[in-house]
Amino acid sequence: MLLPGVTRTSEQATSAVDRRAMHAQGVLALTVKERGGHQVEHNPDRPSWRCGVCGLSWPCEPAREQLVRGRSRLDLAVLMWEHLEEAARDMPQAPASYLFDRFLRWTS
Ligand SMILES: [Zn+2]
Repeated sequence: MLLPGVTRTSEQATSAVDRRAMHAQGVLALTVKERGGHQVEHNPDRPSWRCGVCGLSWPCEPAREQLVRGRSRLDLAVLMWEHLEEAARDMPQAPASYLFDRFLRWTS
């Protein structure tokens, strides 16, 4: 099973998965920095998950605007799901329904 086409396809699939995994790990650092460098970046402080700029529960309104920019709804939902998982690790006492409302409901 060494058909060039098959091999290339599986490599692409693997690298896509790797990128997604790397994205999940670096997602907090990259969230807003990759866009609009001159803007104040409303990134979460951890483990409190409050905005480091305005102190509100993250994602605050400016953070949401920054997160939405340049992303499809699907990309945004995937990104926010990754944040949700990180937040659930940092705040194990938080109810899942609360985290869902906070991180995902606004994206739809
Ligand atoms: Zn903020």
